[in-house]
Amino acid sequence: MDEEARVNGTLIWYYNVCKREAWLMSHSITPDESDSNVEIGRFIHEKSYKREMKEVSTGNMKIDIFRKEHGQIVIGELKKSSKFKNIAIWQLKYYMYELEKEGVKATGELLFPEEKRKESVSLTDEDRINLNNQIREIIKLIYQSEPPEPIKIAFCKNCAYAEFCWA
Ligand code: SF4
Repeated sequence: MDEEARVNGTLIWYYNVCKREAWLMSHSITPDESDSNVEIGRFIHEKSYKREMKEVSTGNMKIDIFRKEHGQIVIGELKKSSKFKNIAIWQLKYYMYELEKEGVKATGELLFPEEKRKESVSLTDEDRINLNNQIREIIKLIYQSEPPEPIKIAFCKNCAYAEFCWA
């Protein structure tokens, strides 16, 4: 398999949250699916923006919203809160970058239905360089035979791997 094809939007997200979590996800060590945060996320995903939502899955991308507006393709990501907005932006920029490589120029939008907020996201040259670096670093990370040691961060208390890391 092409090494870059092993990188996907979920890994970009976890790489920016916690490298250990990205390693665990990439090695198919799945977190507790009954974790309430996972459930809430799924509920919002299913119930919000139902009319405009058109989820698209291709290869290493799973885009929540994909639509055409005034001749322009708009892709969107639904998030339950803006708490990790900066990370959500990287995930969306990654999708925009991957689409661009396939010849599809898209603008991005982040949607926070619980907060009734929407934010536009664009892709710069600096972002493209940064994303290339992230992809390279993720490939290096997933080829490590052991996960990085856990480091306590704010995200740990809501992480489905918390028991695995800290019990
Ligand atoms: S519990 Fe903390 S250290 Fe462990 S995977 Fe989750 S975020 Fe990373």
